[in-house]
Amino acid sequence: MHPTNITLTQFIIESQRRYPQATGEFSGLLNVIATACKVIASAAGKGALAGVLGSAEQVNVQGETQKNLDVISNEILVRATEWGGHLAALASEEMEDIYAVPDNYPCGKYLLLFDPLDGSSNIDANISVGTIFSVLRSPDPTAPPCLEHFLQTGVEQVCAGYALYGPATMIVLTTGQGTHGFTLDRDVGEFILTHPAMQVPAATQEFAINTSNTRFWEPPVKRYIDECLAGGGGSRGKDYNMRWIASLVAEAHRILTRGGVFLYPRDSKDPDKPGRLRLLYEANPIGFIIEQAGGACSTGRGRVLEVAPAALHQRVPLIFGSREEVEHIELLYRAHDDGTDEPYRSPLFHERGFFSEPA
Ligand code: MN
Ligand code: MN
Repeated sequence: MHPTNITLTQFIIESQRRYPQATGEFSGLLNVIATACKVIASAAGKGALAGVLGSAEQVNVQGETQKNLDVISNEILVRATEWGGHLAALASEEMEDIYAVPDNYPCGKYLLLFDPLDGSSNIDANISVGTIFSVLRSPDPTAPPCLEHFLQTGVEQVCAGYALYGPATMIVLTTGQGTHGFTLDRDVGEFILTHPAMQVPAATQEFAINTSNTRFWEPPVKRYIDECLAGGGGSRGKDYNMRWIASLVAEAHRILTRGGVFLYPRDSKDPDKPGRLRLLYEANPIGFIIEQAGGACSTGRGRVLEVAPAALHQRVPLIFGSREEVEHIELLYRAHDDGTDEPYRSPLFHERGFFSEPA
């Protein structure tokens, strides 16, 4: 056991005591979420021994092939949280519509949104995966829950967190008072506070982007990556390193731990999709966690947490990490949008750009 010995449960209950109006319902909700994460960690940790790898041979609402563990994790989260009386309804990456808590359970005042298994394409390769969750207050707990109740901006989140199933299992969460990390002590079955008040370093020399999409990027993103690749001799005056895990939780955790910037920008690959990642159960919770750790989270053209959702599975461009780097990228977007980066956009520059197509 870690010397602090502060469990996740103790941490949440003690945080709640600072709010005399708190009912304890919320700490109960976090407890059932943490239990679900332990069960998913156990299933993911057994891998092939438990038969959880491979494809479920069905396609989810996003048009993605579901892995066995996607389906199992979704089921674990629903079953672990629906009974407790904390929730009015749930929404998941793996379910097309919202899921109202069944009539045989008491109806609570919170809404839970989750990506039950993030980075699931990594699972067969035994690379870290995670769970992302976001808690909202129901705007009307007395009415039957409906889709509109879920369409709240990220600033309205009561709590956001992720579980990371890596060499160690962790839960990192925020309730709006900093971002705190807990490590699962497998011997006693408890999450212990090991990373209090996590902070994203303000400056970085590490970027994460899927460069196979280079030809689809918008000019500000091309420009930013060209700047990074130019290194110490370029306009940024420093050498960069690149990382790409293709698991949002693992990328967010690395950035929380040692800084960096992550980009999954809008691109022209599929003009119908304004980004790759989902606003309500990926971008918003990660944004809340990163902002509470002193980092920034942007679409490139504005704060992610202020994007007004129009649909449950809405996608959004996502750029987050070290504050100075995200602000610099926003600057490049502004220069592009108001035309002041014209010299950069000349064909000559593009011929010089490492990733750019010859004009
Ligand atoms: Mn995901
Ligand atoms: Mn997923």
